[in-house]
Amino acid sequence: MADNISKKTYAAKGLFIALMTLTCILIAGGLLFFWWVQGTGLSSIHPALPGIAGGLLALLAGLILAGTVLLMLTTLLGKDIPGTRLLRGAVIRLLLPVIEFLGKLAGIPRDTIRQSFIAMNNSLVAARKIRLKSDRILILLPHCLQFVDCDIKVTGDINRCVRCDRCDIAGLARLAEKYRIDISVATGGTLARKVIMEKRPKLVVAVACEGDLTSGIRDCYPLPVLGVLNDRPFGPCYNTSVDLERIEEAIRSVLA
Ligand code: SF4
Repeated sequence: MADNISKKTYAAKGLFIALMTLTCILIAGGLLFFWWVQGTGLSSIHPALPGIAGGLLALLAGLILAGTVLLMLTTLLGKDIPGTRLLRGAVIRLLLPVIEFLGKLAGIPRDTIRQSFIAMNNSLVAARKIRLKSDRILILLPHCLQFVDCDIKVTGDINRCVRCDRCDIAGLARLAEKYRIDISVATGGTLARKVIMEKRPKLVVAVACEGDLTSGIRDCYPLPVLGVLNDRPFGPCYNTSVDLERIEEAIRSVLA
C-alpha cells in the first residue's frame, strides 16, 4: 500500500530522480575535472601520484554513479536492493541540499523539489516491505491540524479530543484507535523528537508540510518515515487538513 502512496506521486518522484542523477553526474564530472587540472602538479611530488589520484577519483565517481543507478532501480522496481538503505542516508544527508540548490538555479520551487524528495523517500521505505506490530508504529501529527478555536489541549494526549469532527484530529484519533497505534500531536520539531525518543517506534507515519516533513525525515534517519503532506486551504499552519485514506493506506502497508 505504501507502494500506492508512491505510485500516486510517481511524476513528482521522477523530478527528484532526474535532479539526483544530474547532481551525481556533476559531482563525478567535477571530481574528474579537478584531477585533470591538478593531476600534472602531483607528478612533481611523485611520478606515480597522478595515476593513483586519478584511479581513486575515478573509483569515487564510479561509486557515486552506481549509487544513483541503484537508487533509481529501487524506486522504479519497488525492490529492496542491498546497500540502498545507506544510500538513502547519503541522499538525505549529503545530496538533498545540493539538489535543492541546483533546483533553485533551474527555477524549480523548493516545495516542488521537497514534494518529490518525500515521494522518493516513501518509495525507498516501501521497497523495504517493512511489517510491524501496531505498537511499533507511531503516527505523528502537526498541531496546525487542530481547529484553531478548539480549546482542548490535544498535544500530549490526543484522546482528550471529544471527536466533534470540526477538524481531522477526530478522524485521526479514531484511526489510531481502530489499529491500536500510538498517535501524537507535536507543536514543533523539538517536541516531535522528544515523542520519538520516548515511544521508540520502528516506523513513523508523519503528517506535515513540505519543509517540516523534509527536516523530520532527515532528523529521524535511519528511522524509516512515511511522509504524508497536509492540505492548507487557509494558508500555512492554520486549520490544515489531511487525507485520512492516505494515512490508513500508509498504516495498512506496514502493519503485520
Ligand atoms: S475534533 Fe477534536 S480537536 Fe478537532 S475541534 Fe473537535 S474536539 Fe477539538
